[in-house]
Amino acid sequence: MVGEFAAATASLKTAMDIGKAMLDAKGAYEQADLRLKIAELMGELATARGTLADAEDAARQRDAEIKRLNEALQIKSIIVKDGDAYFDIDADGKPTGEAYCMRCWQADHRLFHLSYPRRMDHPTVCPQCKTQYNFYRTQRHEKKG
Ligand SMILES: [Zn+2]
Repeated sequence: MVGEFAAATASLKTAMDIGKAMLDAKGAYEQADLRLKIAELMGELATARGTLADAEDAARQRDAEIKRLNEALQIKSIIVKDGDAYFDIDADGKPTGEAYCMRCWQADHRLFHLSYPRRMDHPTVCPQCKTQYNFYRTQRHEKKG
């Protein structure tokens, strides 16, 4: 899809070059109306070119988002929910290490480790979305071995 947009953009660029050559030509296109029409045509082509370039950017962004979501699908098989957080899985399939933000994973499919408080009666906090969690519902799991 991105390639098609790029090709269309290149074609329009060529059409604009042809139109410019017609405007620059001496003698052959002397009629003022004809020049006006060509100028209009070039204006339309320039607009179309800009629109296609925008569409190409949007397609690139969508491709990047698809890639990110595919990666998230891969990650989904190596993390597990426990309490109010997600964790890496150890060799035995048990949660291990520090907690990832539940909200960020469930809403955005992004993993951010929670920030742990000095005191256990204070909440853990996601540095990304600032969601606070009960310390005891997001406790670290000691790594074994
Ligand atoms: Zn978060």
